[in-house]
Amino acid sequence: MRPEHRTFSVYPVVVRGDAETEITVRPLYDHVALRDDAEYEVTYYPCEEFSQRSGWPERNRPVVKRINGALRVRQYFEGEQEHVLHLDAVQGDNRRRMGEFRVYSVGPDLGGRIPWKGDVHMHSSRSDGREAPAYVAAACRGIGLDFMALTDHGQYEPSLEAIRAFEGVKCDLRMYPGEEVHPPGNPVHMVNFGGRFSVNALFAPESSYRSAVEDRAAGLGQLPGGVDRFQYASTVWSFERIREAGGLGIFCHPYWFTNHRYAPSGALTSHIFDTQPYDAYEIIGGYHLFEVASNTLQVARYHEERARGRRIPIVGVSDAHGCERGELFGWYYTIVFAPTYDLSDLTDAIRGLWSVAVEALPGQEPRAFGPFRLVKYALFLMREVFPLHDELCVEEGRLMRAHAAGHCEAADRLGQLAGRIAGLYALLIGA
Ligand SMILES: [Zn+2]
Ligand SMILES: [Zn+2]
Repeated sequence: MRPEHRTFSVYPVVVRGDAETEITVRPLYDHVALRDDAEYEVTYYPCEEFSQRSGWPERNRPVVKRINGALRVRQYFEGEQEHVLHLDAVQGDNRRRMGEFRVYSVGPDLGGRIPWKGDVHMHSSRSDGREAPAYVAAACRGIGLDFMALTDHGQYEPSLEAIRAFEGVKCDLRMYPGEEVHPPGNPVHMVNFGGRFSVNALFAPESSYRSAVEDRAAGLGQLPGGVDRFQYASTVWSFERIREAGGLGIFCHPYWFTNHRYAPSGALTSHIFDTQPYDAYEIIGGYHLFEVASNTLQVARYHEERARGRRIPIVGVSDAHGCERGELFGWYYTIVFAPTYDLSDLTDAIRGLWSVAVEALPGQEPRAFGPFRLVKYALFLMREVFPLHDELCVEEGRLMRAHAAGHCEAADRLGQLAGRIAGLYALLIGA
């Protein structure tokens, strides 16, 4: 968190592009309070200087008004870009830097879309993870996620168990059903995010699944050399079932290095990219530090396929198998730009290319991957907005854990905290 975030309240910081907006800078503590014997000056810099309007020079010192212990600055914010506002206190010859504030202006199609943080691929103790489903959900809130889905191996029920644990509790984390889908005889891992029924359940009895896939395979015609007909048909069939369930079908970690090779095969991965039976691609998967090369490959593959003209919806996921071990959990997530975080808005936005994947490895600045303009906006949000958002989530996560552990007063406290993120965003996001 930048020091300015601790000492000033500044709003709005996301504004409409190509319009004039008034920004309020309100000192929060004595040591930065406005003084009667000082003048306040703001110097304005548009980071990209599109300069489609003439006249930057005379615009770079906007008029500052003082109202009730706060400063108000009106400025025209051109285009979609980041803007810097330097605030100085001037007393005679003495000029003191009070702070540097950032504002981001967005185009009309990005205005009205809220940046929701989520992780839709992770495991609990119901498969090979460490903690109970309710604990995993609570931990997601604690690290600042707005939505999540538990996706245990071959199991849909644990995701419902997490949701049920908070039934009747007013809390702002959205928990959705999910599962990691493992079709028999097929090395492709898929996530069913938000589906109304389990696709894994359709693999029993295995004989009827196999005959359904054989039928599907029969209609596929000629396949490229090296593509296993059954595996590909099973992948297509499973993604079709995920969509039938109303879920988003995610193509998981194609460059997972296991047993001395990538799984699935390169031929199958290429054919999946060529035919796109999935709804979204896990561009950033949950790899440990020793295997992050796999994410590098997944990102490179994304750019190559995009350059060939493909539309590729993306997610970034932690695939965490534990919340407390300092690995994977919280390292990778998705930002979805959607009007609300209802399931249909989230999945429509992902399908519509309104998402970026984030890699936030320990001790490093976070990186975002995806469409250029969303990456640019995400870098601003991760620096200027999410630290404030995440701080509010910490207490909610703690109370969710307490509720899951049976502390009866936690639900009431959670109810009192509900709506804080909405309140914060109503203040900060003015576009
Ligand atoms: Zn997997
Ligand atoms: Zn997994």
